[in-house]
Amino acid sequence: MTEPEEPKTNRQICRMHCPDCTTFKENNLKFAATHDLYCVHGKSEVAEYSIEKGCNCLGCELFSREGLKGGWFCLYGLAGKK
Ligand code: SF4
Ligand code: SF4
Repeated sequence: MTEPEEPKTNRQICRMHCPDCTTFKENNLKFAATHDLYCVHGKSEVAEYSIEKGCNCLGCELFSREGLKGGWFCLYGLAGKK
């Protein structure tokens, strides 16, 4: 019998999406102090120097589960892109 899978943490879920996103890669967001869960913690410290490319948040479980809006939280903070 196989063990039931542990539910994924929010961080694990985020890391299935943000690191593959073109905005994340283009701006090397992985090197900033905050590099995941922007929809919870707010925008990246380097947001003002970053350029907007794609966003994978719309495909993320947290996005639908929490009824989030906007996306691009790494650039625009908790409110997301207007
Ligand atoms: S909605 Fe975006 S920032 Fe929030 S956990 Fe999902 S991928 Fe990460
Ligand atoms: S918040 Fe959206 S745009 Fe920013 S790194 Fe995550 S998936 Fe990409």
